Amino acid sequence: MNTGSMSARIACDVVVIGGGAAGMMSALQAAYAGASVILLEKNEKLGKKIYITGKGRCNVTNVAELEEFFQNVPRNPRFLQAALHQFDHEDVTALLEMLGTPTKVERGGRVFPVSDKASDVTRALARGMRDAGVQVELNTAVSSVRRGEDGLWEIALTAGGVLRAQCVIVATGGASYPSTGSTGDGYRFARDNGHTVTELRGSLVGLTIDQKGPTLLQGLALKNVRVSAAVGKNKIFDELGEMLFTHFGVSGPLILSLSSHLPDDVTQANVLLDMKPGLTQEQVDQRLQREFTENARKQLSSVLLTLMPARMGPVFAQLCGMTAESPVNQITREQRLTLGRMLKALPLEIAGMRPLEEAIVTRGGIHVREITPGTMMSRVQDGLFFAGEVLDVDAHTGGFNLQIAFSTGALAGKSAAAFALEHM
Ligand SMILES: Cc1cc2nc3c(=O)[nH]c(=O)nc-3n(C[C@H](O)[C@H](O)[C@H](O)COP(=O)(O)OP(=O)(O)OC[C@H]3O[C@@H](n4cnc5c(N)ncnc54)[C@H](O)[C@@H]3O)c2cc1C
Repeated sequence: MNTGSMSARIACDVVVIGGGAAGMMSALQAAYAGASVILLEKNEKLGKKIYITGKGRCNVTNVAELEEFFQNVPRNPRFLQAALHQFDHEDVTALLEMLGTPTKVERGGRVFPVSDKASDVTRALARGMRDAGVQVELNTAVSSVRRGEDGLWEIALTAGGVLRAQCVIVATGGASYPSTGSTGDGYRFARDNGHTVTELRGSLVGLTIDQKGPTLLQGLALKNVRVSAAVGKNKIFDELGEMLFTHFGVSGPLILSLSSHLPDDVTQANVLLDMKPGLTQEQVDQRLQREFTENARKQLSSVLLTLMPARMGPVFAQLCGMTAESPVNQITREQRLTLGRMLKALPLEIAGMRPLEEAIVTRGGIHVREITPGTMMSRVQDGLFFAGEVLDVDAHTGGFNLQIAFSTGALAGKSAAAFALEHM
């Protein structure tokens, strides 16, 4: 790659920083729109994060209609309206199919490559970029982004040298899973150019617990349970699914989803675990009465065995103020009612969230008020565009986060190409 001094010739119309979902889509769409494009990726390969998405299968998008999509975006959903309108899930799947990676729809509208291989998604986008003439530079980290006096963008490389371009698209991702390359550089580039970055924290992340009992259950998975949460009288979450006890507290699909609904002060949320979501409170009590009659000469642990995994019994009994060894025939009616209530609503005392580095996505980012939603261009600096997780938008699990990266990436790419060609 020819990088020279500040007086170097203009390298291309559009420089894209970051070779993740948003960056590759930006580069592709900018090239399709007729711009000359260079994509800079600091890793030795493209799409390192895509590779680990959907447990290696890549839940590439979701077929939800727009309104349902917005319901899965807890912060700033309307900012995405134009981006999703111009490039939706059908555009993503049609493009992937055209590039040799057909997709299939699974439960909950989740879309995966037919091959079940996340690497096929990256391979398709890489092939598309190559065919469209995008110059991809791997092992190339950007150290700073600034606007030169002549109005061109100057992209300085860590290894030395500067690239000059009409436009730059910052698609550097968030700050979670930094081993994939998303170390938060884009926030610095944004701040250096007058942007505000909202507070960064994790979303879709495990939760720490302030109770001794549950942490003793490390490794135990509960299936078909319901977790609900409320702040005061306001219900903020209620879903069925699977959760996992860990050394720090709780995790698993249900808990990750819950984390993106929690308020900044997570301790305000009253989180309850329903271990018998298919039964009403009354039915649970009837079931307990029946078990108590049949096991009258046994210990409470024998009854609990019929209601939950064996490891959970002693901890559950303790949380109910009893011991698993208590003889069933000595348990009072009041205690039985307590057991029933706790089976339907065991409080989980959430103390905090695991660190941002462990989160599936970053909550917070470049303030969306400073970005034009119809182009993804900065309102602060002409010719500076942002796409993907670096923005202050995040979504629930289900393919929504990748669709956001693809939609904002496509819009940034098309808009940057139009801007560059207009200012030639
Ligand atoms: C374990 C896990 C599973 C997930 N599963 C799913 C899923 O199934 N479905 C879904 O929708 N979402 C999923 N997500 C979320 C989704 O992967 C991200 O939201 C999405 O990949 C963000 O794309 P991006 O292009 O904005 O950022 P990234 O994919 O993080 O890409 C940013 C790129 O920029 C590069 N970069 C950063 N700084 C520089 C620099 N200074 N110079 C040059 N290059 C730089 C990085 O190396 C990186 O390659 C998952 C996330 C994780 C962590």
